[in-house]
Amino acid sequence: MWRWRELLPVQRWEHIAYLGEGDIPLQPAPRLGASLGLSNLGVKRESLNPTGSFKARGMAVAVSRAVELGANHLVAPSAGNAGGALAAYAAAAGVRATVVMPSDSPAANQVEVLATGAELLLLEGLISDCGRLARLIAEETAAFDLSTLKEPYRVEGKKTMGLEIAEQFDWHLPDAIVYPTGGGTGVVGMWKAFAELESMGLIGRERPRMFCVQAEGCAPIVRAFQEGSRFARSWDNASTAAAGLRVPGAVGDFLILDAIRESGGAAVAVPESDMLDMQRRMGSLGLGYVSLETAAAAAGLVVLVESDRVGREDSVVLFDTGAGFKSEPPPTVARRSIPNDESFWRESVLPGLRRA
Ligand SMILES: *Cc1c(COP(=O)(O)O)cnc(C)c1O
Repeated sequence: MWRWRELLPVQRWEHIAYLGEGDIPLQPAPRLGASLGLSNLGVKRESLNPTGSFKARGMAVAVSRAVELGANHLVAPSAGNAGGALAAYAAAAGVRATVVMPSDSPAANQVEVLATGAELLLLEGLISDCGRLARLIAEETAAFDLSTLKEPYRVEGKKTMGLEIAEQFDWHLPDAIVYPTGGGTGVVGMWKAFAELESMGLIGRERPRMFCVQAEGCAPIVRAFQEGSRFARSWDNASTAAAGLRVPGAVGDFLILDAIRESGGAAVAVPESDMLDMQRRMGSLGLGYVSLETAAAAAGLVVLVESDRVGREDSVVLFDTGAGFKSEPPPTVARRSIPNDESFWRESVLPGLRRA
């Protein structure tokens, strides 16, 4: 990722907290593509980042720059993956971190924060409530607030996703980008990347159509898109198993909506059951155990193809934003154990496996 350092805010090489982030493959996905009716689908495998999500890119830049500017205690609210990434990069930079998470955040995220020696505050509330506590901590102590879009550097790190896509498409952009959207900094970062690439003469005026996918149980951007408003009202009783999408009010709502509209894209919401079905379908089509957020984006892509917003010949980049093993396991996954007994194996297990 740091190949792009001339475009990133960290001034000195030795201030970079590095865990191997970025430079992520765009995996051709012909089987998933065929099942969705698409001939040119690639999956950007951000789950391969350190800490298992694209949040690593933003935190790598933000932590490095904040520490370069003198911060020695960092605080952020997180629905899950951002907290894990903050904790990991703060430890890499040798500074203190405090992460405020809703108490129903995925166990893997809680554990990864504690494993790095960061302070974990579990709050009985939503991500927006966690944001209020994080702000209070920043105001009342010397901690630096790394909340989404409350500082300028995380989005700079996420920008590198757009730079990589341009490079991976040989300085031509794809027709469509499909992104599971919570706080929206991924979309905002890529949109900024494209503008910078154009101003440097590396690409022209073309842009991909930007598509945001949200969960039906928390879809403030989709509602604002449909209503034609520039800002998104906060979503009441936000509820979805995809923690990264459980963001009732995005600080950068207007930036996301501007990017969607300027690009000719759209925002769509998908039900929980479609997410769960798609998680297993993607796994069976060779994409591994993807996160519910990733599965939501793919389920949204089905809707976009059906409504002709994405054409069958379009080049499409689907974002795999995080690894499945970081979410809570879905209750629908049936696990059954068998006795440790060879005669049972011969009588009851092998016949089932021999069937064609
Ligand atoms: C944070 C997160 C998202 C949402 O990304 P934004 O850029 O904040 O909209 C999607 N998927 C996963 C796995 C995440 O951790």
